[in-house]
Amino acid sequence: MKKHVMIIGGGIVGCMTAMELVNRGCRVTIVERNQIASQTSGESSWAGGGIIFPLLPWMYSEQVNALTNSGANFYRELSDRLQRETGVDANFEQSGFLLLPTFDTEAAQTWCAANQVPVQAVKASAFGVQSISGEDALWLPTICQIRPPYLMQAMRQWLEQNNVTMLEHTQLMPLQQTAVLSEWQTVSGETLSADQFVVTSGAWSFDLLKETTAKLNIKPMRGQILLYKPQKNLEQMVYREGFYMIPRRDGYLLAGSTLEDVGFEAAVTQAVRDEISAKAEAIMPALKNEPIVNHWSGLRPGTPENLPTISAHPTIENLYLNTGHFRYGLTMAPASARLVAALMSGEKPPIDAAAYACIS
Ligand SMILES: Cc1cc2nc3c(=O)[nH]c(=O)nc-3n(C[C@H](O)[C@H](O)[C@H](O)COP(=O)(O)OP(=O)(O)OC[C@H]3O[C@@H](n4cnc5c(N)ncnc54)[C@H](O)[C@@H]3O)c2cc1C
Repeated sequence: MKKHVMIIGGGIVGCMTAMELVNRGCRVTIVERNQIASQTSGESSWAGGGIIFPLLPWMYSEQVNALTNSGANFYRELSDRLQRETGVDANFEQSGFLLLPTFDTEAAQTWCAANQVPVQAVKASAFGVQSISGEDALWLPTICQIRPPYLMQAMRQWLEQNNVTMLEHTQLMPLQQTAVLSEWQTVSGETLSADQFVVTSGAWSFDLLKETTAKLNIKPMRGQILLYKPQKNLEQMVYREGFYMIPRRDGYLLAGSTLEDVGFEAAVTQAVRDEISAKAEAIMPALKNEPIVNHWSGLRPGTPENLPTISAHPTIENLYLNTGHFRYGLTMAPASARLVAALMSGEKPPIDAAAYACIS
């Protein structure tokens, strides 16, 4: 009989984990308190920008980059497969990334060379954007993007076609300590059972597990994004000092995002709207005359050093964690799913798993 795995949380990490487990012959159920692939109260995956690359990767540890590099490498093939098998185009694009100063140019060049990421020193004006300092910008032509709402729709469609059970509008209760997990209670009083469980509940993971592992260090970090549809769009993604803009192929332009430590408050704010629009206009003055057509937020699963937990639970047999991907969950998700699936089946992990362990 097929092993039955229950995944708690239907964001990108839960969906990719489900896909990986289906590919390995498991029967999979996803439990999601809202609806998979919809924009609801704070979930991070729908809300993300979709840059398949960390902002300034040389600022992060080897362990973070191991997941982002590996995850990014899967995306072209993954999006082709999703389109072929579901008909949904997730808008994967190699639109390139223009990094405007200031940052440590030498560290950037060294990192790019060591990681085989092509890079070129350029004048920002050649790309039609304003550079405040006169210094050269860096152009990374191979960096890609995906459109998170379309990626989530494609994933949902693929999981449906591959017989994954989706228990939506079903919220699990915080877990109590136990040696082996065979059943998990829902808020409405049902009991769900499986052979193995994986927590992929994003920013809500600590609340779900705090009775069982006090050291899981995950908290919500809100990010807000503005959407424009300018007369003339950028042709590449642009970054400056923690802020970025992402042009979509149908003429939209995203500008964001913020890193706000405001608990589970998912509402958008006027102050951030003003702050983001000022930063966007400083790079692209023509945006002063353009209306903002949407403004949203998401709650990232924030973790120290941006390091997710991908491991067996420290004390509960048959429970696994794949959570805390903070700013780069979209980029990391394919690699993270492969890692947790390998750990669950006792295989040699594709990358060294020690750094992502959960210590009780
Ligand atoms: C503004 C913004 C921009 C971003 N840009 C990028 C980017 O450009 N590139 C990149 O790689 N990453 C980006 N990210 C980060 C990325 O979006 C996240 O790291 C990723 O979405 C996390 O996915 P997740 O599946 O862990 O969490 P989520 O998408 O939040 O999913 C967790 C799910 O668990 C469910 N859940 C929680 N508790 C329970 C329960 N008790 N029972 C049942 N279900 C439950 C929730 O409803 C939710 O759907 C961005 C994030 C934001 C907010």
